Amino acid sequence: MPTPTGHAFLSPSSAHRWLACTAAPHFEADFPDGTSSFAEEGTLAHSVCELYGRKRFTIMSKRKFEGELKKLKAKPHYDDEMLRTAERYVEVLNEEAVGLDGTVSPYVAFEVSVDLTAWVPDGKGQLDNTIIGGDTLFINDYKHGKGVRVSAKDNPQMRLYALGALAMYRPIFGDQIKKVCMTIIQPRLSDEPDRETLTVEELRAWGESIKPLALEAYTGPGKFSPGEHCRFCKGKAQCRARAEQNTALAEFAGCVPAGKPDAHAEIGDPTARRVLGLPPLLSDDEVGELLERGAQLVDWYNDLKAYAMQAILDGKSVAGWKVVAGRSNRTLTNTDAAIEAMIGAGYDRALLVEEKPLTITGYEKLMGKKQFEAVCGQFIEKPLGKPTLAPESDKREPYSTAASDFAGVGNG
Ligand code: SF4
Repeated sequence: MPTPTGHAFLSPSSAHRWLACTAAPHFEADFPDGTSSFAEEGTLAHSVCELYGRKRFTIMSKRKFEGELKKLKAKPHYDDEMLRTAERYVEVLNEEAVGLDGTVSPYVAFEVSVDLTAWVPDGKGQLDNTIIGGDTLFINDYKHGKGVRVSAKDNPQMRLYALGALAMYRPIFGDQIKKVCMTIIQPRLSDEPDRETLTVEELRAWGESIKPLALEAYTGPGKFSPGEHCRFCKGKAQCRARAEQNTALAEFAGCVPAGKPDAHAEIGDPTARRVLGLPPLLSDDEVGELLERGAQLVDWYNDLKAYAMQAILDGKSVAGWKVVAGRSNRTLTNTDAAIEAMIGAGYDRALLVEEKPLTITGYEKLMGKKQFEAVCGQFIEKPLGKPTLAPESDKREPYSTAASDFAGVGNG
C-alpha cells in the first residue's frame, strides 16, 4: 500500500500507463522524481493560460491582469510564445461558451480540484478548465508540449477528470448534464483542438470498467505489461519486463510470418525454409509487422543508451561502455570583436557579415501571428513535405504521389 504523499499515487496524467501496466506505479516508486525545464516551462505556460482565461471569464481589472502578467513574465522559462498559446486557449474556451444556449450564462471555472476516489484509490486531480451550459459539461485541458500530439480520444486522463467533475457538479446541475465533451488544446502543435464527446452513461460505464485495474495498480504488485505506454515510465530503461520483451528474439522470429511457423523453427536454415515453404523474400505484410515491432525495439535501445550515459556520468560503471566527448565545431568567443579585428586587417564588412531573413516563426514572434498573416499571408505557401513513413494510426492524410507530381506546376 503506498505511503501518503502530496501527490496522488495513481495520477490521472499517468493513467494510460497504470491501466495498461498495473505494476508500473509500485515499480516507479523506487525511482526519484525528475523535474525538467520542460515541466517548469509547461507549468508557467499553464499559469499564463489561466490568467488569460480569468481575464476573459471573470471580473478582473486591467491593472490586476497586467500586474499578474508582469510577475509571470519575470519568471525563468518565460517566452512570448506563451501569450500566443494562451490567446488560442481562450479562443477555444470562448467558442465553446458562446456556442451554448444563450439564455443562461455558462458556468466557467478554472483550476478545479476533483475527488476521484470513487474510481481510483486515493485518486484526485486538477482540471485546467470546466464549462457547463445547456446539457453539456466541457472539460478543457491545455498541453504545452510540442513533441507528441496528445489525442482526446480514449484518453483516460480526460475521462477521469470528467468523472470527477461530473460527480462534483451533479448535485448542483442535476440531470441537466447529459453529455461530456473533453477537449485537448495543444496550440504549439495544432491550432485545432482535439475532442471526444461521451454521454454521461458511456462515461460512467467506462469508470466502472477501470475500477478493478485501479485497485490492482494501487495495492500491487500488479502485472508488468510493456508497450507504447512505457515511454514516460520512470523505470523504462531498467525494467526487466520491457528488456525481456525486446530481447525475445524467438518471439520476434515468430512474427515472420505472424505467428507462423513455430517460433523455435530454424527458419534461417535453407532446408528448413524449403520444408516450411517460406519464400526468400519478406512479404509487404511481414515488413509492416517487423516495422511495428522494431519501433519499440529502437525506443527501448535509445532509453538504455540514455540511462547508461547518465549512470557513467554519475560515476557508475556500465560493463563495456564509456562516455566520450562528441564532435564539436570551433566557435568565436567574441564575434563582434573578431569582426572588428578582420575589418582592421583590411577586409570589407559586407564580405564578413551575412544579412539573413528570420524564419516564419521568428517573424510571428516579432509581430504576432495575426499581424504577420495580415501583412504577409499572400507570400506564404506550404509545400508538400517529403514522404515519411508513419503508422496507419497517424492522423495525417496518406501521401499523394499525384499531388507531389503537380506540386510546383505553375511556379514557372
Ligand atoms: S517500463 Fe513499461 S513494463 Fe516496465 S514498469 Fe514501466 S510501464 Fe510497466
